[in-house]
Amino acid sequence: MQQIPCPWCGPRDDWEFHYGAEAHVARPETPSDKSDEDWMGYLYLRSNTKGPFRERWMHAAGCRRWFNVIRNTVSHEVFAVYKIGETPPPLPGEAPAAPDTTER
Ligand SMILES: [Zn+2]
Repeated sequence: MQQIPCPWCGPRDDWEFHYGAEAHVARPETPSDKSDEDWMGYLYLRSNTKGPFRERWMHAAGCRRWFNVIRNTVSHEVFAVYKIGETPPPLPGEAPAAPDTTER
């Protein structure tokens, strides 16, 4: 069984968590200015990355908090976890990222 390290509770079995899809998807500041196509893209279109990927997870059977995970979508290896609003660690082989301003 795979373990995911919750930033607050520590490593726990994966059945305790819920997957929340791609991380760092910024909500448009003024949705009413968006076309239907752009709004549909915000709501439904996500990356389908093969390899290291930033995702949201929630510790449903524990603290019930959301956080971000960098996980390899092929091997399921977890590279890093970080709290919402923290600067994302770089993906494996990537330069350090700029501070995240998309999440609150
Ligand atoms: Zn937790």
